[in-house]
Amino acid sequence: MHAVRRTLAAAPLLVLLGAAALPARGDEPKKEAPPEPKEAKPAIVVPKEPAPPAATKLTVTLADGKTAHCREQSAQSFLIRGNWFPRTNDAEKLKEGRKLLEEAIKYRTEKYGYFEGFGNPKSNPHPPKYYAKSTSFMGMSVQVHAKIIPALKCVEAALKAGPAGEAYKPRAMGGIRFHNTYRGVEISNHVYGIAIDIEPDKNTCCGCVAPWNNHPLCKQKDKTVWDRMVMPRSWVETFEKYGFYWLGHDVLQDTMHFEFLGDPDKITETAGDVAAK
Ligand SMILES: [Zn+2]
Repeated sequence: MHAVRRTLAAAPLLVLLGAAALPARGDEPKKEAPPEPKEAKPAIVVPKEPAPPAATKLTVTLADGKTAHCREQSAQSFLIRGNWFPRTNDAEKLKEGRKLLEEAIKYRTEKYGYFEGFGNPKSNPHPPKYYAKSTSFMGMSVQVHAKIIPALKCVEAALKAGPAGEAYKPRAMGGIRFHNTYRGVEISNHVYGIAIDIEPDKNTCCGCVAPWNNHPLCKQKDKTVWDRMVMPRSWVETFEKYGFYWLGHDVLQDTMHFEFLGDPDKITETAGDVAAK
């Protein structure tokens, strides 16, 4: 499906517009944002190369046929699992974590749907599966919440715009689930249709229950989490640019798993928005 394209020709103009018109991204806490490496101008004139992916505004086609520019954003911290269960005995901090989890359930119910037993049914008249849609991602088909499809398309466009798209060719992925795979107070983001798993048999979860933690890669204790999967780091970094959180960072070390924890209303902006700002 050719729903995504990259505006190569328009890139320099868009970058200029973006630089002049967009406010600094002060509201997005970015981990280690190194300055763009500025290469010295070569003395010999070489044929013009396309702009590097980081400097290119990616364009995706939305379900209504309109084109939009991808916006970069970070995961929202109150939605990050690790913040709900701080590794401490401090009662105050544990209480704070539990409050964040409550907030996260409320937010996900409002934005993505009500799942029985979690949150208030008055916050959303429909279950998440009501909003589920099939889409394609890197040649695989997957069913997710319709709201996050543009975010997946932005990740796909970014992967295809650079070497990452050729570096790894997964053959299977999972999306929405209709039952909760967590026990107790927690609810999986798969239930809300905002989580995906990429090639679970090759990108395992060493902190999960069997059979996941029986994977041969989990036995190699001297390796880092990055070595215990086949997916390249460039994929993780690309997903993270567009509001996805990688559960490889979590104690679970769930390397196959990405969840969209950005703001679903800030995934894209239309070309008009950019020019008008
Ligand atoms: Zn998962």
